[in-house]
Amino acid sequence: MNDNILVIDNLTVDFEGFKALNQLNFSMKSGELRVIIGPNGAGKTTFLDVITGKVQPTEGSVTFNGKNLRNISEHDIARLGIGRKFQTPRIYVNLTVRENLDLAVNTNKNFVSILFRKSSSPEKRTVSGLLETIGLIAKADLQSEYLSHGEKQRLEIGMLVAQSPDLLLVDEPVAGLTDEETENVGNLLMNLAESHSIIVIEHDMEFVRQIARNVTVLHQGSVLCEGTMDVVQNDPRVIEVYLGEAPSMSEEQINIIRIAASMAWADNNFAPEQLEVILSNLSREFSDSLMHQMDLQQELKNYLAKNIPLEELVPQLKNIEQREKVLRLSYEIIRSNEINEQEIVVYQRLLELLDLPTELIKEVETEIEAKYDKRINN
Ligand code: ADP
Ligand code: MG
Repeated sequence: MNDNILVIDNLTVDFEGFKALNQLNFSMKSGELRVIIGPNGAGKTTFLDVITGKVQPTEGSVTFNGKNLRNISEHDIARLGIGRKFQTPRIYVNLTVRENLDLAVNTNKNFVSILFRKSSSPEKRTVSGLLETIGLIAKADLQSEYLSHGEKQRLEIGMLVAQSPDLLLVDEPVAGLTDEETENVGNLLMNLAESHSIIVIEHDMEFVRQIARNVTVLHQGSVLCEGTMDVVQNDPRVIEVYLGEAPSMSEEQINIIRIAASMAWADNNFAPEQLEVILSNLSREFSDSLMHQMDLQQELKNYLAKNIPLEELVPQLKNIEQREKVLRLSYEIIRSNEINEQEIVVYQRLLELLDLPTELIKEVETEIEAKYDKRINN
């Protein structure tokens, strides 16, 4: 018996002479969680587009549960049991979390009848099971527009699961999420992997490390390398591909790094713990380049060597997200070793310049305190 859920054989997609996929071969077993990585333009999105029937291959075949998907429509492929989660959440923001899940469970039924019917108990169970799986029981009756970005992602994954697909395709689920939400989504996917086959496309290497067992690296439309994260990461071909593609830092990122440096220099003592906080927080910003972490750290250290006045740096922050990020990072930098007088002075000046709501500041400080308290108690 063949226990492969997906077999892709010699697949080529030719866009008017340009091969987005080039004789690609791939297979995965039923029940597997597979992560696909690769530099921009490697063909990852096209790969998903072919599996879901959005793009027809020029050559080669996709076989799902033993069935060749050639010439089957997108709609019918979805009905065969392939569900796709796009990068941006597609939920009904005017409905509650529960109503969204209700709709997903009852896709074939009429919208109005779902909102006004008395829920029958088996369906109720399904929806409450889903609520539990995605960790949103407490927010079941909240209108979805008030969910955080990460909670919306989890809700959408729940809606996908509601349709009981055999194979889940998930495109960059943690882009733009906080560390905590990234971990939540990771845990959710690992839970789901116990009963589903899942393909995740992802850039965030720390996240890949959290969830990945098998990783496939795409490059120029073909599979470059496959294996565990450790194997893949140390493969010279993979390192070369990522080095070639490494994005240099943007002005905005450099500005944030410089503010972090000013915080760390506040007491004229740049402690190793502080460097650690900065490197681990910022490496996420450069997820594609994590493959050459050593170079990256050297580059960061060059920026960290300077102590530029905050008055020059903070006004260059573009928006409230960046200001919040700076607050979070800065507080963690001074919190990572004993906070002293000089650091408090510089931190107060930073708060004035950032001009963020007091509530937000409290929230961020409490969150970071909790993280460090937990470490001390463990
Ligand atoms: P990734 O998701 O890995 O970044 P894509 O699958 O989006 O890569 O794209 C692979 C390559 O194919 C890119 O060079 C892209 O410009 C090209 N491409 C994607 N879609 C089309 C299209 N419809 N027509 C022409 N070229 C395309
Ligand atoms: Mg893409």
